[in-house]
Amino acid sequence: MPLEKDWYTAQRDRIFFTWSAQQNVRGFEIVDAEGPRFKVAGQGWMWDLQSQTYNVCAGHRHPQIVARMIEQIQTLPAAHPHALLPVRMELAQLLHLHTGMHKAFFTTGGSEAVENAIKIARLVTGRSKIITRRTSYHGATLAVLGIAGDQRKKPFERDLANAFHIEDPYPAREADGEKCSDWLESLTHLIERENPETIAAILLEGMTGVNGMQTPPRDFWPGARKLCNDYGILLIDDEIFSGFGRTGKWWAWQHWGAAPDILVLGKGLTSGYGPMGAALVTEKIARHFDDKILWCGLTNFAHPVSCAAAVATLRVLENEKLVENAARVGEALRRRLLALNSGPGGAKIRDIRGKGLMQAIVFDRPSATFLELLWERGVFAPGAADMMFICPPLCLSEAQMNEIMDIVESALGTWN
Ligand code: PMP
Repeated sequence: MPLEKDWYTAQRDRIFFTWSAQQNVRGFEIVDAEGPRFKVAGQGWMWDLQSQTYNVCAGHRHPQIVARMIEQIQTLPAAHPHALLPVRMELAQLLHLHTGMHKAFFTTGGSEAVENAIKIARLVTGRSKIITRRTSYHGATLAVLGIAGDQRKKPFERDLANAFHIEDPYPAREADGEKCSDWLESLTHLIERENPETIAAILLEGMTGVNGMQTPPRDFWPGARKLCNDYGILLIDDEIFSGFGRTGKWWAWQHWGAAPDILVLGKGLTSGYGPMGAALVTEKIARHFDDKILWCGLTNFAHPVSCAAAVATLRVLENEKLVENAARVGEALRRRLLALNSGPGGAKIRDIRGKGLMQAIVFDRPSATFLELLWERGVFAPGAADMMFICPPLCLSEAQMNEIMDIVESALGTWN
């Protein structure tokens, strides 16, 4: 078929860009990718501080993941949701090993995984309310937009159900001898006010992603866990962003020491090589559905090629010790960021946040022009409002991190 125009203009005309007024998006052509970098036509190699959409955790174009997917495509590229397949079993076992959860429900992405976690929580508890943090993002579908606090719900707000939010100011007030932290206080009051017996679940991001990478006060997760135990409420942990080692531990909840009842995964599950999300549940929740219907299902449930991508991703994370690497390089990154903060460019920095290879710089002004400067210097960095995020693939070496931070430091010096 002859092209109507040059191909990238043709794409611009016929496929939407996400979350944007279309005329404001430039778009870029990726011609190659490897490890923590990708190559843009007319621009050259770029350090990927967004891991594309925070998902390419194992790095770009990893030969072992590619090979495993090709093998699956050649063996069986499509299968009924009830089909018993070795690749499904292998993935379920690996997830059990790394999460301690009992059983998995698979989806085609993160938002759907959160949706299904909510459905499961409502089916198991017979209750309906879902509590979230005011500063939270859990996905783009209507139900999840309504439940979470993110501003992207605004255009639809009129038609969404009432939300129940924990107030989570930042910096948070930590617990002192007499009083708990302000986050936990807000949660406790909310539960009392709403009647605990109407609350199905508390849904929390393992560590906040796009809304600013705030570290919760120390008593928040253990306190939330205790309230859940006391009132028969389920704790749902959304690790779509923070999971698979991004914060330097396999799951961010491990920093806070309070295990969830339902663990929601996405993004890094396949390292972005295939569409997939998952809601993993404890044995108690799993048993509920032995004799009761699980009212959840999707055409592409546990898609074999995505399963193959996920199995290979998990093997790469294990074999190449990428979780440990994220912790180590994340520590070194932290030191560079703190040095930047106390150096000459530090006047423009208000805060450094995050853990591992999930960190953010908060500036005293909008970050957009700084991100432009970085792009021109070979660094692809995401941001929002006054923030810049640093979320590279977990295979980034310390030397590569230092190379990137040298660029960030020199760009900061020229930014007005
Ligand atoms: N939860 C969190 C914490 C996320 O960061 C995201 C994606 N940014 C989602 C849910 C939604 O995942 P998806 O875009 O794959 O639907």
